[in-house]
Amino acid sequence: GVPITIRQLVKTYGSYRALDALDLDIAGGEFLTLLGPSGSGKSTLLMAIAGFIRPDSGLLQFGATDVTRLEPHKRNIGVVFQNYALFPHMTVAQNVAYPLKLRNADKARIDERVRWALALVKLDGFGDRSIHQLSGGQRQRVALARAVVFEPSVLLMDEPLSALDKKLREHMQIEIRRLHETLGVTTIYVTHDQREALTMSDRIAVINHGRFAQIGAPKALYEKP
Ligand code: ADP
Ligand code: ADP
Repeated sequence: GVPITIRQLVKTYGSYRALDALDLDIAGGEFLTLLGPSGSGKSTLLMAIAGFIRPDSGLLQFGATDVTRLEPHKRNIGVVFQNYALFPHMTVAQNVAYPLKLRNADKARIDERVRWALALVKLDGFGDRSIHQLSGGQRQRVALARAVVFEPSVLLMDEPLSALDKKLREHMQIEIRRLHETLGVTTIYVTHDQREALTMSDRIAVINHGRFAQIGAPKALYEKP
């Protein structure tokens, strides 16, 4: 995974600074969680990194590349949303193959990569299923497979587990962490759940009103000497 550099990133809505001159350095392969209450700016920051939101000013770099003005599809990022955002009229395999088709991969490569990604999320043999036949947990696995099938250099997840019940959520936390370790992809994970952040992260960036309140390893943030 590539390191990410964020400098003085600003995004305003009217007179409100949703991102208030943020600075952040994320190491290559790191799992960083953005933790904060609703409305604190987590999604805005994630979507700015993805390129779906244009910041007013500031710098965003993946490795040595300035991506601040680059289109989302040129950033080599995988994104997982809370509501899965799968294509309901496509099969599981077609959903996972979609990013590869956009990239004009040939059929043999698509077949091989889709098989690989479905095995990674433990959905071997589910390729021909329709999305309607899947449970919530399985749909989120498909979304994960689709996000990593093209080997992105950055993986972005916006509250991916919040639609799942508690037991399944805890199971998927472990699965996502394992997937991160397997792939070594730089990962930014958004949640408002402190326990989830503590369980999964290398580092946590606590955000409030578009500013970082603190940034550090889970232990450094929550264990008082
Ligand atoms: P979070 O993801 O932490 O819940 P958001 O990044 O979605 O927070 O929102 C941060 C702030 O920006 C909030 O005050 C929200 O109301 C505001 N905001 C987000 N999107 C828009 C928008 N499209 N138009 C106006 N205000 C917005
Ligand atoms: P769903 O309920 O949506 O089918 P999952 O397929 O993710 O969700 O799994 C449901 C439960 O089954 C999980 O909480 C977990 O305990 C168990 N489970 C699923 N897949 C595996 C697996 N490959 N290995 C071990 N346990 C699994």
